[in-house]
Amino acid sequence: MKKGIHPNYQKCKVVCVSCGAEFETGSVLKEIRVDTCSKCHPFYTGEQKFVQTAGRIDKFNKRVAQAQKANK
Ligand SMILES: [Zn+2]
Repeated sequence: MKKGIHPNYQKCKVVCVSCGAEFETGSVLKEIRVDTCSKCHPFYTGEQKFVQTAGRIDKFNKRVAQAQKANK
């Protein structure tokens, strides 16, 4: 490999902000923080849990309710 042009690829700690899970991967970064991981994502857990996206879902539900009113 040519020296001086490659970023420093190293072991990287990934921390999940939602459930606190930690695991290692490789990256040029030392630490990565993620909002959701395979331990707490609804797709893997099979249950619905909204942590930080609640605002967007509320907005969507309000829009749906308004659209249904308008159609009646
Ligand atoms: Zn998680």
